[in-house]
Amino acid sequence: MKYDVIVIGSGPGGMAAAYGLQEKGQNVAVIEDYLWGGTCPNYGCDPKKILMSAVEAKAKVAALQEKGLTGLPTVNWEALMDFKKSYTDQIPQRQKESLAEAGIATYEGQASFVSPHEIQVGEQVLFAKRFLIATGQRARPLPISGQEHLGTSTDFLALAHLPKKIAFVGAGYISIELATIARAAGAEVHVIHHNDQPLKGFDKEMVAALIAHLQALGIIFHFDVSLTEVRKAEGYHLIAPDFDLTVDLVIGATGRQPNIESLHLEQAQVDYEKRGILVNEYLQTSQEHIYACGDVVAKNVPKLTPVASFEASYVVATMTEKAAKPITYPILPTVVFGDYRLARIGLSEAELAKNPGLYHSQVLDLSSWYTYFRINDQGAKLKLVYDQSDHLVAVTCFSSLADELMNYLVLILNKKITKTEIEKYIFAYPGLANDLGYLL
Ligand code: FAD
Repeated sequence: MKYDVIVIGSGPGGMAAAYGLQEKGQNVAVIEDYLWGGTCPNYGCDPKKILMSAVEAKAKVAALQEKGLTGLPTVNWEALMDFKKSYTDQIPQRQKESLAEAGIATYEGQASFVSPHEIQVGEQVLFAKRFLIATGQRARPLPISGQEHLGTSTDFLALAHLPKKIAFVGAGYISIELATIARAAGAEVHVIHHNDQPLKGFDKEMVAALIAHLQALGIIFHFDVSLTEVRKAEGYHLIAPDFDLTVDLVIGATGRQPNIESLHLEQAQVDYEKRGILVNEYLQTSQEHIYACGDVVAKNVPKLTPVASFEASYVVATMTEKAAKPITYPILPTVVFGDYRLARIGLSEAELAKNPGLYHSQVLDLSSWYTYFRINDQGAKLKLVYDQSDHLVAVTCFSSLADELMNYLVLILNKKITKTEIEKYIFAYPGLANDLGYLL
């Protein structure tokens, strides 16, 4: 079979590109070797946020104890998991059907290049003028003895029953979010991290506030612990120098690696490195007719769903319009979800750290602001970083409303909206949008 474009991988990147290309009149096929829809709706963002709904509801009740509410709800894990499954179980079939309804060909199986213009899936060899590689990432195994005993985030998000005692290895955003869910659902939770810097990429002061909050909820952190071995005994025995812990379940979340091995990229002469496929500023690989987008790309922008779909839309435009311009990314938010969220926007912490003398900052205690007082968001705070001309260049927020606030700031900072302009509008009161004028 011959196609204009073959898309490899049906995650948010691959799907957005396939629909976009089909709408532009291209004859498109998508190849998927696991669950249609990819990581985000099946075993990533969406199932995580469904489980998180119970955490949020419980935390809201907890915050109003002795302020009008008495008694804490408990999480029924099995019922919560059924709720999650009522969403996730239908995803793959629906995604596949909707591609077919749009007139996009679908193939199931692992795609491997046989030449720069041919790809094999099962027994079939397909030909295309152009390709888009959108094969995403998977959990990277921890290279220690007994690594086979470590489960992944995917295993956690499908747990039929919640074990009593769980350890998460790694303190990145996936680990922290899943630990928050497990703790709210009643497990004893340990987080083990090889250094004392969890959530690298977020402001240290604000991370400290989140960690203190999670410790107050009962999550036990073990910093500067580098596991050397996991042994299966009664439960799992986690071993490191001067450290030893036995748990019922251990989840490894120490990083992710690109899904590239099975693609046989050398057959297509596509260059890659450990972090993923190498692309130029047009998202073209070393073969100009083969593009890559989403998590599989070696890049410095965060590997997130909206980034994958943004890149997919860019690839559609670049493949179908004549005057392609290099990709530029708008300001994008990153969020650690939990009952309290940690959210940031703007220049990265690494960029800020390169020239600390160029920036100054202020931290606002939000807990007495009406928006936060009303829900008893104790400890809510905001850090604003300015450049030498007093332009806002980065914002980090720690509160139960931080993600929503960041989304307003996405518009404000991308559009360079000033305080005077914001004050020309009337927002519903009381509400988060009303605070914007005070933040600029
Ligand atoms: P994917 O969604 O990973 O899709 C790639 C697809 O390619 C997969 O279906 C895979 O099976 C398929 N594939 C791989 N190799 C082949 C092959 N050789 N042949 C055929 N098919 C192949 N992002 C957010 O923005 N917000 C969040 O809150 C968030 N939470 C997350 C929580 C977890 C637990 C995880 C794991 C991720 C989370 N992410 C979140 C990240 C988000 O899921 C990814 O950024 C997004 O899914 C990337 O999309 P993608 O299309 O690049 O790849």
